[in-house]
Amino acid sequence: MNLPAGFDAIVRRCRSVCVLTGAGVSAESGVATFRGADGLWNKFRPEELANVEAFLANPKMVWEWYAYRRQLLSDVKPNEAHRALARLEALVPDMLVATQNVDGLHQLAGSTKVVEIHGNIRKNHCQTCKKPVEIVLTEHDGPPLCPSCGGMVRPSVVWFGEMLPREAFGSAERAARHCDLFLSIGTSGIVHPAASLPFTAKNSGAYLLEIDPEPTLLSSYADGVVRAPATVGVSAVVGAFEHQRNPS
Ligand code: NAD
Ligand code: ZN
Repeated sequence: MNLPAGFDAIVRRCRSVCVLTGAGVSAESGVATFRGADGLWNKFRPEELANVEAFLANPKMVWEWYAYRRQLLSDVKPNEAHRALARLEALVPDMLVATQNVDGLHQLAGSTKVVEIHGNIRKNHCQTCKKPVEIVLTEHDGPPLCPSCGGMVRPSVVWFGEMLPREAFGSAERAARHCDLFLSIGTSGIVHPAASLPFTAKNSGAYLLEIDPEPTLLSSYADGVVRAPATVGVSAVVGAFEHQRNPS
């Protein structure tokens, strides 16, 4: 796997890494994409289900869609890309993974410095009072009611049209502004404001590396591009750090 020319020098002086991951980093773990082969939900677009109006108009249907996605995730495991990013934490003084994924796989792989800018599909909170609510998912075939206020319980993911969690996105923006190296991995760069983070980093002087098998909206702006699946590309990048920090 060839890394971009001059990348060794970037690795040598790198003290701070900010990573943005999207659905592509989990693809090789078998995480279903929204438009996967299973026909059940194919007649809906995610934008039609993942928004508060849909939930209020048809709570049971939206709940069922999340139950289906949660079930698909129940025995999914992190892949080599998640694991390599977890190892990178020990190799640079400062690192943050900002993920758009709601699957929790970075943490399962051992990453400790992760912000979930689109929430976490395994968690729930009350739509009305916003308090977190612990439930046993299998016991409910529609949204349960909040024990505090009687409002409807919903998955703790960010829906289209909703604000991103302020603290998580603020941390991601700070990391993007201060990093030496920004890795954009498996994200099409379409969903904003997450897609602004690579631009923030580059405009603040970071080297911007994209890892994605397909060209994205970011490609022409990146300083370097690794056209490979995440397991291959991320392993190569982290391998360069391992080689430079602990040459054997
Ligand atoms: P996206 O679907 O818009 O883009 C996915 C990107 O991944 C594409 O550029 C594609 O070329 C790339 N890709 C495909 N296979 C890859 C691989 N093996 N290695 C590396 N890259 C690969 O995804 P997005 O930019 O994350 O935006 C979609 C939204 O949907 C996000 O908000 C995300 O939270 C949500 N989503 C999350 C999950 C999850 O949690 N795993 C799954 C589906 C969608
Ligand atoms: Zn409530």
